[in-house]
Amino acid sequence: MILIFFGPPGAGKGTQAKFFASKLNIVHLSTGEILRNQLKKESKLSLELNRTIETGQLVSDKILNKIVLERIKQKDCNKGFIFDGYPRTITQALFIDDYLFNNNLLFSYFIEFIIDDDSIIERITSRALTESRSDDSKEAIKTRLKKYYEETKPVLDYYQNKYSSIYHKIDGKQEIAKLNNLLIKLLIK
Ligand code: ADP
Repeated sequence: MILIFFGPPGAGKGTQAKFFASKLNIVHLSTGEILRNQLKKESKLSLELNRTIETGQLVSDKILNKIVLERIKQKDCNKGFIFDGYPRTITQALFIDDYLFNNNLLFSYFIEFIIDDDSIIERITSRALTESRSDDSKEAIKTRLKKYYEETKPVLDYYQNKYSSIYHKIDGKQEIAKLNNLLIKLLIK
């Protein structure tokens, strides 16, 4: 089973992706998490990545596609995986579509988490108090939202057309438990 959890930062994708990866015994493939782990290693690449992420910019498609390709080729991904935070640009979307097509793989579900900007800012600001992520500053959040509308939203339009039969949208503003129940009904029959 290959799923995409799609939506702006702070929409609740990560929380649900963690839950369903464990429930369905598939891999939670969060590109943000992979990148943050990379930052822990001291290297020239990490310094560069750190600057990009901290300011809320997107990391290059070349790096992201390489990271994702390496990850999905690992054995545990044979069972399936949930994309959380990828694809985030049209270039990434075309890359992964190509890969799946060439390997006879299909997306099972495409879930869009919908949430308004004010709620996003409110959520990330309060998360910043407990998680202290360097990209949760006010300025970085603004840039992340701007990038979402400029680069990531077009992916949504492209996928809504291409995968209309597996596309579902849910209200990301709901409580975690309610959202969870709705997704259970949808994904686990
Ligand atoms: P959020 O969804 O809250 O923005 P993530 O953990 O998914 O958080 O991503 C954190 C940061 O990692 C992004 O702001 C971006 O800099 C980088 N990143 C993650 N995934 C991608 C991607 N697919 N393409 C480019 N950059 C990415």
